[in-house]
Amino acid sequence: MLDETMIATLRASLEEQKRNLRTEILAQGAAPDSDEVEIDVERGFADSAHSTAERARVISVVKALRTNLRDVERALTKMDLGTYGLCERCGEPIAPERLEALPWALLCISCKLKGLGR
Ligand SMILES: [Zn+2]
Repeated sequence: MLDETMIATLRASLEEQKRNLRTEILAQGAAPDSDEVEIDVERGFADSAHSTAERARVISVVKALRTNLRDVERALTKMDLGTYGLCERCGEPIAPERLEALPWALLCISCKLKGLGR
């Protein structure tokens, strides 16, 4: 089981990760709380091949950052609900080593390896 000290440490990591992700998303010209893929970068680029590629790159970066941000926010919500550290697929506790490496992990390693869920 996770003790309170460890939860507090993981919560601090999650809060930090959340801040970093929001800063990075904003730096890409996108809104952290929106699921819109069309981002401000639209206006800044002309229709050249280069800018199309650049825009696709920015969008994929933003999508990845947002996916991570959603997982981080979900993990924080689960802490509040008291279900943090339980696998969302099988309900078994996620190994503490896994949470230390990846505090926003929502699946235990065996469900993750089976490719279930996200
Ligand atoms: Zn599982």
